[in-house]
Amino acid sequence: MSQSTSQADAPVANIGVVGLAVMGSNLARNLASREGNTVAVYNRSYGRTETLMAEHPEAGFVAAETIDEFVASLTTPRTAIIMVQAGAGTDAVIAQLTERFEPGDIIVDGGNANFHDTIAREKAVSETGIHFVGTGISGGEEGALLGPSIMPGGSAEAYETLGPILESIAAVVDGTPCVTHIGTDGAGHFVKTIHNGIEYADMQLIAEAFDLLRNATGLSPAEIADVFAEWNTGELESYLIEITAEVLRQVDAKTGRPFVDVVLDQAGSKGTGVWTVQTALGLGVPVSGIAEAVFARALSSKPAQRQAAAGLPGPATGWEVTDQTAFIEDVRRALYASKIVAYSQGFDTIIAGANEYGWDIKKGDVATIWRGGCIIRAAFLNRITEAYAENPDLVALVAAPYFADAVAGAQESWRRVVAGAAQAGIPTPGFSSSLAYYDGLRAERLPAALVQAQRDFFGAHTYKRVDRDGTFHTLWSGDRTEVEQD
Ligand code: NAP
Repeated sequence: MSQSTSQADAPVANIGVVGLAVMGSNLARNLASREGNTVAVYNRSYGRTETLMAEHPEAGFVAAETIDEFVASLTTPRTAIIMVQAGAGTDAVIAQLTERFEPGDIIVDGGNANFHDTIAREKAVSETGIHFVGTGISGGEEGALLGPSIMPGGSAEAYETLGPILESIAAVVDGTPCVTHIGTDGAGHFVKTIHNGIEYADMQLIAEAFDLLRNATGLSPAEIADVFAEWNTGELESYLIEITAEVLRQVDAKTGRPFVDVVLDQAGSKGTGVWTVQTALGLGVPVSGIAEAVFARALSSKPAQRQAAAGLPGPATGWEVTDQTAFIEDVRRALYASKIVAYSQGFDTIIAGANEYGWDIKKGDVATIWRGGCIIRAAFLNRITEAYAENPDLVALVAAPYFADAVAGAQESWRRVVAGAAQAGIPTPGFSSSLAYYDGLRAERLPAALVQAQRDFFGAHTYKRVDRDGTFHTLWSGDRTEVEQD
């Protein structure tokens, strides 16, 4: 039976949840369903708490009407998971808890915080002796209820208390809970941000594959759903491919048209894709596939510009596919190769971020905890875990033997798809940029030599030579002799 608490009550709850909107209430129910947990719940507006209590008496929640009651209901070390609106809401709740908690207690922020904020919050809160654990939680509302993928940061000491609780509620794949201590302070929210960036790329690539299949073959959404369902039985097997088949099969009840055709073609975003790209730009990591996915959503959401450009000329003819089966296989391979590039770029960002912020992030463990619960869960994450197990210092995932072979097998299809799409005027920013990245990475020599020469010409930025050590500058506005720099 659920119970209400008052300050006079003895502490009974080993874990508390603050914020009972969709994520918090589902996470609280997940926690309550695990043996040994008694869960205290608190929400700024008591109405949400009352609704949760009324709808889920089986959870045995300890409901608090005030933050003081909430804190009083927690056994020590007090552990509270904040699931409120990221930003000011999170700061407000952290301030309330910090005022009332004692050294050794643990505040967990399970919202989608910017990892820079988490670093600052961890620093401020830990000065009081209270632990602060910024934790990425992926899987949406269903994941929160049934088992998410969890990416906690914070101190190893805090994880000793928190780890078993998080392991009990996480998704489980092959007997392994999808949670691991990612690293100190903002590491968890950092990895969650990159997860979301990869998610943006994955979704964009799938959308491009759909667009190509539809435009070039004339297959209906329901027929393309069958193609995706088939793909989901092979190396592309993943949650996003699975739900794509379901979405494409959906028929709009009001009009009888394919559901995908009645949805306005403007994709929204909440910011983590932008954060991934901003972070990667700051770290100097090329995340072209992820960036194109973010830009593609931005372009879709510019109706005025799209309308202004709507009459501009395109190619005279569309794509004339002669062998539909071969074409579908080309698109599948192009999708797989582009997806490998997106993950490779995401892991490059994780490596660069870990170096920059001093986190010892185990890449293989990250791939392992993304296998279940989260939106990008996919069969091929096992291959990523294996690649990092084989070589923890792998410098480019795309060059690891399994992925190099996969891309080598796909590259001719990839080129046909990107070339054909360009000729037919079908936008494929994800496919095209991923292929350009792959070709750039494998090129023996890049035109960067000319760029560096131009930089030396107008800005005396100097250059290095292929045949001698040292740094050089050419006297471009003088007699054009080369001067070795000190
Ligand atoms: P939300 O809509 O982001 O936030 C609503 C909750 O925040 C309510 O409980 C609200 O309390 C509370 N809140 C807002 N400002 C507050 C303040 N100043 N002080 C105290 N409480 C405040 O809720 P959500 O969708 O459940 O998400 C919760 C967190 O999880 C967010 O950080 C979100 O980014 C993250 N997340 C969401 C998803 C998802 O799929 N939705 C997935 C992963 C992570 P009142 O009821 O009093 O207004």
